[in-house]
Amino acid sequence: MSFEKLGLIKPLLSAINELGYEHPTLIQKRAIPLVMAKSDIFATAQTGTGKTAAFGLPILQRLRKSDGSSDRALKAVILSPTRELSIQIFEDFTQYSKHMKVECAVLVGGKDIESQQRILKKGVDIVIATPGRFLEHIQRGLNISSVEVLVLDEADRMLDMGFTKDIRKIHPLLPKKHQTLLFSATYSDKVRKLSKLVLRSPAFIETSKKNSTVDTINQKVYLVDTHRKAELLAYLIGSRNYPQVLVFTRTKVSANELFTELQKDGLKCGLIHGDITQAKRLKTLSLFKEVKLRVLVATDIASRGLDIEELPYVINYELPSVPEDYVHRVGRTGRAGRDGEAISLIDIYEKYDIKEIERVIGQKIAQETVEGFEPDPNIRRKDIDDIKLKSEHKKPEKKKAREYNKNTSKSVKTKTTSKKRRTTKRDS
Ligand code: AMP
Repeated sequence: MSFEKLGLIKPLLSAINELGYEHPTLIQKRAIPLVMAKSDIFATAQTGTGKTAAFGLPILQRLRKSDGSSDRALKAVILSPTRELSIQIFEDFTQYSKHMKVECAVLVGGKDIESQQRILKKGVDIVIATPGRFLEHIQRGLNISSVEVLVLDEADRMLDMGFTKDIRKIHPLLPKKHQTLLFSATYSDKVRKLSKLVLRSPAFIETSKKNSTVDTINQKVYLVDTHRKAELLAYLIGSRNYPQVLVFTRTKVSANELFTELQKDGLKCGLIHGDITQAKRLKTLSLFKEVKLRVLVATDIASRGLDIEELPYVINYELPSVPEDYVHRVGRTGRAGRDGEAISLIDIYEKYDIKEIERVIGQKIAQETVEGFEPDPNIRRKDIDDIKLKSEHKKPEKKKAREYNKNTSKSVKTKTTSKKRRTTKRDS
């Protein structure tokens, strides 16, 4: 099957040819004809499957001005969970439409709303936005009466991030007869509920097994003690000559700590998380893309929106608190059929988490140790004793607990830090 056979018009064929796409991916083969036929769609597809082009190309084709006119009215709206992902989609649309007269705008929070309004006033055909900011624009008078297509990209993520209310508010404001395309990496109850609300007789597309990770990713688990994780990470990057790695932590606190540690180890390192300004995040991302940084430390906020070509290594410095996020994190590597390696550094406390992840992805991940970094069996013994001790004194007074921490060895203190991390609010 070729892109020509899918019936795409010449300007789009030239653009994808220039991007080096030779054959449509599975989701593209299935979705493109359906989008062109104006059907609603419910697609489960992970990042890396080529889903942006799967909705982007047929939408652009539909918006082609057959009469050659340059009148602009907002025809398509793409909602995505994060600023980074919205910008990525905008960049993809810009590439795909380079031989067409189509105007796209990206509307994300953290950027000046007045300047976005000025762009909208000039007239745009397509808007790519985060739900909150899009709603703000509607409330400020954005005309959405000619919208024909709504895309909910990474719908599961949008719902997890608390955008349910915004989507429920936006949907009834759109013209009654619009087409809705819903893309989600997972098939959760929340997504199913939303699909019932927004989709009309949708076509279902399932391109991968439920929550399965991409086949081309080689997944590994290295067992290591908590306090030696940073050291092991630096060792792996150095001794194995990893050219570039994306490293995930569970919280902003541990991302900051790890960033400082890796810099001390002399690694050129960038940091992306929710407390870092949008401008700084974008700057860091472009430095990473230009290979001016070797390591990018990120919390899960970055795990969806990043599109970095041929990223060979993803390292989970800490496992995510939600097993499904593992799929999204490792989906940063092995993209569009390329090989990738996803390594998780796990300590004694994450053994349960990895079992949950294996259950969700439906496969076992090999567990290994790295010579010189084998977990210390004495630490385990102490930890188990500590757990026993805690269960014997179910409600220790705060003061006693503080004294206990003060008097215990470094390894137990490390464990306390790790537990604290675990309960810290997720960064998303
Ligand atoms: P996505 O799942 O949309 O984030 O796309 C993942 C990556 O695959 C992006 O870097 C796209 O540029 C690339 N891509 C999308 N479609 C194709 C294709 N048919 N052939 C090769 N690469 C593609």
